[in-house]
Order: sequence, then C-alpha cells, then structure tokens
Amino acid sequence: MLKNLKNIPSVDELLSDPRIQEHLEHYNRSFVVEIVRETIDDLRKKLKLNEQEITRAQITEWICSELDNRLQSLTQGTLKRVINGTGVVLHTNLGRAPLAKTALDYLYQMGTFYNNLEMDLDKGERGSRYVHVEDLLRRLTHAEAALVVNNNAAAVLLGLNTLAQGKEVIVSRGQLIEIGGAFRIPEVMKLSGALLKEVGTTNKTYISDYEQAINEDTGLLFAAHTSNYKIEGFTAEVDLADLVKLGREKDLPVMLDLGSGFLFDPLRLGLGPEPTVQQCVQAGADVVTFSGDKLLGGPQAGIIVGRKEYIEAMKRNQLTRALRVDKLTIAALEATLIEYLAGFPEKNLPIIQMLSMSHTELQERAEQLAEMLKSESSNQPLGYNITVVEVDDMVGGGAYPTYRLPGYGVEIRFQDVKLETVAAELRQQNPAVITRRQDDRMLISVRTLLEGEAVLLTLQIKQVLLKLAGGQKGDQH
Ligand SMILES: *Cc1c(COP(=O)(O)O)cnc(C)c1O
Repeated sequence: MLKNLKNIPSVDELLSDPRIQEHLEHYNRSFVVEIVRETIDDLRKKLKLNEQEITRAQITEWICSELDNRLQSLTQGTLKRVINGTGVVLHTNLGRAPLAKTALDYLYQMGTFYNNLEMDLDKGERGSRYVHVEDLLRRLTHAEAALVVNNNAAAVLLGLNTLAQGKEVIVSRGQLIEIGGAFRIPEVMKLSGALLKEVGTTNKTYISDYEQAINEDTGLLFAAHTSNYKIEGFTAEVDLADLVKLGREKDLPVMLDLGSGFLFDPLRLGLGPEPTVQQCVQAGADVVTFSGDKLLGGPQAGIIVGRKEYIEAMKRNQLTRALRVDKLTIAALEATLIEYLAGFPEKNLPIIQMLSMSHTELQERAEQLAEMLKSESSNQPLGYNITVVEVDDMVGGGAYPTYRLPGYGVEIRFQDVKLETVAAELRQQNPAVITRRQDDRMLISVRTLLEGEAVLLTLQIKQVLLKLAGGQKGDQH
C-alpha cells in the first residue's frame, strides 16, 4: 500500500528518537546512519506489498527494533563460538583443534605487548622469526632443521617448488590424493612448477615402479600419507624405508606429506598404528610436512622438518615470504610444542585429552548430561525422552578415516516438535550447538564437549524448547 510509504519517518527524525540516540553513544554516527538507511530501504520494499495501513508509530517501532538487531549482529562478528556435540574431535568445519590454555596465555602476552619476533636480543640486532620454533621442533622430532609456514598445503607447495621446480617428481598413483577444501596433489604440483610423474596403479605400486621412472630429469621422490581414505583389499604401497634407500642410491631427496602428523604415539591413545613424525625422520625422509592444527592440537600452520640443506634452501625461497606465519601462530605453536616437550599433552592439550578419555569417563559424562536434561524436561511444555547410548566418535581432520572411536552420548527423542526444527534453532544460539542425527533422534556425543558445556547445552535446549512452545501456542490462536 503506497500510503504506508508516507508514514516512514525521515532519517533525521529517527536519529532524534531517544532509542536511536542511545546507539549513538556506542557506535559512530555515520555507521548508525548507514544502517538506518538500509533498514528504511528494506522496509519500503516490504510496505509496498503490504495491504493494510500501518501507522507511523508502528513503523518507528519496527525500525527501532530492527536496528537493534542489525547493529548487534554486525558488531558481534561472524565467527561464533560453537558447542561441538558431533563427537568428531578434529572437525575442519568447526575450526579443528581447540587450543591449550598455555597457548592462549602465551598468545595473549605476545599479542598484547611488543615482542622479539625478529630481534636477536643477545646481539641487539635484527633476527629471524624462524628461530622461534625451530629448536623445539628439532628436539621433538630429531630432525636437523625445521621451518613453519601458513599451513600444510603451503608446506607441500614450498617443498616441491624448492626441491623440484622444472624437474620430475615421482609419485605413486595410489597417493594422488585430494584433501577437503580442494587441496589436490596434482594441482599443487602444477602450481609449484614441478612435473608430476605418476607411477604404479591405484591399488598397487612397487619400488621397481619408482626405480624405472627415474631419469636425468628426476628431482624428487614424493610420498603422501593417504590420510583421508583407505584402499582395502589387494593393495601395495612402498615402505618409506625402501623409498629412502632408493633415494640414497640415486642421490634424490625423499619428501613425505604426512598430513596430520603425530608427535604422540597413537598407540598410547588406544588408536591404531600410524607413523609418528619422529619415526618418519628416523626412517630417513629428507623432508616431512604436517599440519599444526590437526592431531598436533595447535594453531593452523604447516610444519616442515628435515635435512638442513633442504630447509635452508626453503628459507631462502621467495615463496616463504608469502607463506610466512605471524607472531600469534608462532606463540600458539611454541606453547603447544612445549606441552609435548615438558608438559603433559594428554592432560593439557584438549585434542589429546579428548582422544585419551576412558570408556568409564565417557559413560559417566553421558550419564551426567542425561540427568541434567531429564531434570529440565519435567518443567518443559514440549516433552522429550533421554537415553544414554554408546556412539561411534571419529578422530577427524583426515586421520583414521575408517576408524570408529567408541564413545558415549545421549539420544534425545522429541515428542511434540520436529527434530530438524530443534536442531536449526540450536544452531542459531550463541554459542551455537551442533549435534548429530540418528534416524528420528538427536545424538549428542560427550567426548567433544569442553568444560562447562554440558550445563550450557542443557540451558540452550531448554531455551529453544520454551521458544518453540511459545511459537506453537501462537499458531493455535
Ligand atoms: C590435511 C592434509 C593436507 C592439508 O593440510 P592443511 O594444513 O589443511 O593445509 C595436506 N596433505 C595431507 C595428507 C593432509 O592430510
């Protein structure tokens, strides 16, 4: 109704409204004016379609409340805390590894104050940012040298570019992997300027395949840990030790993209055998790359360890400048590595702690969560049933793709409301809650709930159900 448009107050009138005046105390004027304008524009489109007459007071009221929402959502940032009820410990969509407390403290100090990122305090001269984690990494992995870049994708790119630009790189067809988020070995190879030379077949590759492919153009033997899938059955891949032996004979470096990169023996966590970084270095790999935010439990980073001559060549590569890490990453990574060296990773690194939880502890946690949810359900207009169940958790982050980690959780069956409706509302909470679905039931795994989150989650579910009950009542009128 066009008449409604005449009832829209002007921007100046709106700005003199006390409700909007109050915003001017918290936000700068031009920002508020811009959002008021946007709100009015959107309102105009709506009012044109509206059949009923709407008063000026109603319109002002709507603009004020809409403005509240818009200002709040624009100024709280789009990155939101999430409660992970999925039981996937390293969830790339949920930011991978939550950091250790010591990492956060260190990060806070280095972020708040100035620091010696590139200053040699002994000499009072310019230093290198790369010295900071290098000693720690050498000590932990027994490699000769180390370098940290933006992420593992960057580490692989840098390694290939430094060691094999314009040369052939021999890779098994069974290892031409794609990692989530469009990281494909053949594409990265192309970008690096190295030439991919595929050998063997998808399911079987022998050392003789590598040997026959070597010629005067060969620059590197490359292996990728097929971390996010498993070929089962009639398969063969070449052992790292054999590849190293061949590399030595032919005077070619061997580079390994390890993916997740354990510093901690996975057998101690009750997980299946996976090569640790130390073992790969010991087996003689010349360069090993892995992520900082997968099973290491640190910040996003690409860690490269290996022979000094190769690492030094990478440091001199101009690409390193473009792929370099900042002080915050270095701080968080140093603190994480110190937990491995001197601390208690199974106690202080959230990822390792989650993976090392005992069956009994998980069961107890699930029972506590079930109790809290049950005691809430008695005051709820919308009912639900709770059952403690055994669940299959996952390591995630591309490691142990087929391994079901035995866990515990609660199953919620809602009686008067659709599961998807509750799940969608829970995602809109702050913190948002992400759950799993099992047929017509909601599944919340307790392994990935951090301290205090069981209580918070119970409150969120209570609030969502109260809101949905209000909506249903409204519908009946
Ligand atoms: C995860 C992974 C990558 C990519 O690592 P980012 O740190 O995410 O860049 C590369 N290779 C393998 C084998 C991986 O598992």
